[in-house]
Amino acid sequence: MGGVSRVPAIGLDLDHWWPAASPFEVIVGAILVQNTAWNNVAQAIAALRGAKRLSLAGIRELSESELGELIRSSGFWRQKARRLRGFVTWLDAAHGGRLDRLFAQPTAAAREQLLALEGIGEETADTILLFAGEHPRFVMDAYTRRVLVRHQLPAERAWVEAAVPSGHGMNAARRYRHLHALLVETGKRYCRKRAPDCGACPLAPLLPAGAYPPQAKRHAQPRLGAMGPPSRGEHKRDARPRRANPRARPRAHQ
Ligand code: SF4
Repeated sequence: MGGVSRVPAIGLDLDHWWPAASPFEVIVGAILVQNTAWNNVAQAIAALRGAKRLSLAGIRELSESELGELIRSSGFWRQKARRLRGFVTWLDAAHGGRLDRLFAQPTAAAREQLLALEGIGEETADTILLFAGEHPRFVMDAYTRRVLVRHQLPAERAWVEAAVPSGHGMNAARRYRHLHALLVETGKRYCRKRAPDCGACPLAPLLPAGAYPPQAKRHAQPRLGAMGPPSRGEHKRDARPRRANPRARPRAHQ
């Protein structure tokens, strides 16, 4: 595997930034992280693993209430249990319980099917496609939009994908995963909603003249937040009810 993955100065391993041992674990994390902090999700995943239920078969055999008990730490656990069970039920019906069949489809087709499921919005769908399915689909989240807007750049996925240089021994999916991880960590550590820490941020030299956020702290020390996927509120819009898709399988446990 070519390309640079580790950034020891800030304690990052970009190839393992999303802490999951399997594509299905990525999907579980992407659904559970909605509207909560990653630490809470990590507890829920540890509980699933401890109960030997961190698999399609493991969740398939659980009732919604049993699953809810295991993921209680992630918050909104009844809703999230229904969504997880719904995903597994749909995968069984649509793809014979095979994630490889889901991800073998063209990106647009797989994305449309994911978006039709309860609780899976654009950010969650793109996270699943990129981190679980290896599809070259950059994830636009609140952290990324904030950095781009503050640097007076277009906050658009297509623009980012076109702007990411190719090569470096990496395919597009890996480049997008690295960039997403770096942008989220920048957002968590420096580019906070209030009082961005431009004085300590490594991206400060890239700020266009006059674009320095007026509320920015210029001399504060960097605050090293917990590493890992986006946390509380970054997936909030995924909770919105979605339009029914006639091609989607019936949702389980509505
Ligand atoms: S330099 Fe300032 S505006 Fe730019 S990413 Fe860093 S904290 Fe955000």
